[in-house]
Amino acid sequence: MNTQLDEIPVARRLTPSAPPQWGGPLVLVTLLASISVMGVAVFLRLNQDMYSFSPSLVAPLPQPGADGRLLGHFSYPIAQEGDLVEVAPGHRLHGDAAAGFLAMQKAAAADGVRLQLLSAFRDQETQHNLFFPVMVERGQQPEERAQVSAPPGYSEHHTGYALDLGDAYHPELDLEPDFEKSDAFAWLQQHAHRYHFRLSFPAHNHQGVAYEPWHWRWEGSIQALELFEQARRFNATT
Ligand SMILES: [Zn+2]
Repeated sequence: MNTQLDEIPVARRLTPSAPPQWGGPLVLVTLLASISVMGVAVFLRLNQDMYSFSPSLVAPLPQPGADGRLLGHFSYPIAQEGDLVEVAPGHRLHGDAAAGFLAMQKAAAADGVRLQLLSAFRDQETQHNLFFPVMVERGQQPEERAQVSAPPGYSEHHTGYALDLGDAYHPELDLEPDFEKSDAFAWLQQHAHRYHFRLSFPAHNHQGVAYEPWHWRWEGSIQALELFEQARRFNATT
């Protein structure tokens, strides 16, 4: 018997254990495993992004028809940077349409109606990001998505002549079919033509695009008239 040990109180007898020899490798293995898991996560994330943003990996868009329309929408050129002016923070329009809009907004305000600019010029990338990710998120086919949003390259917003309007007193009606019940819409129906604005997608339009009481385009110049001639004729005659 080790008397020396017996004299040591029980609580103090335990010798500190040596650090386990496998501690180092275990830390290394854990670290490598974490890096692998992170790598897989990043890979999956990238893959997911590819599916969200690449039209070739989701349901492909069909070819445009003989009349140039894709899923009901006519194609439009992107406005020249130099032609665009800012009409509200973050919103640009073609200079001509901007002047028309500001005059119309001022006249509406004098009648107690506050026209709220919700969307104006949109480039191809912005339209792409409005079309495809939402289509994937909602599990829609291109045909279904195109009823409420134009595919990139086919939006009137590309021209700098089209805009989406809301009633500042009724933001709950923004981009909703019920916007047609707002004072702003009633005012627009009565006065917008004086400022050369036309409703692009009335109810039951021949293009087959959903009714958009908030979406108006400006046709007050030769250039604008020519850009929208095809759409105007199509909706008037077929
Ligand atoms: Zn619009």
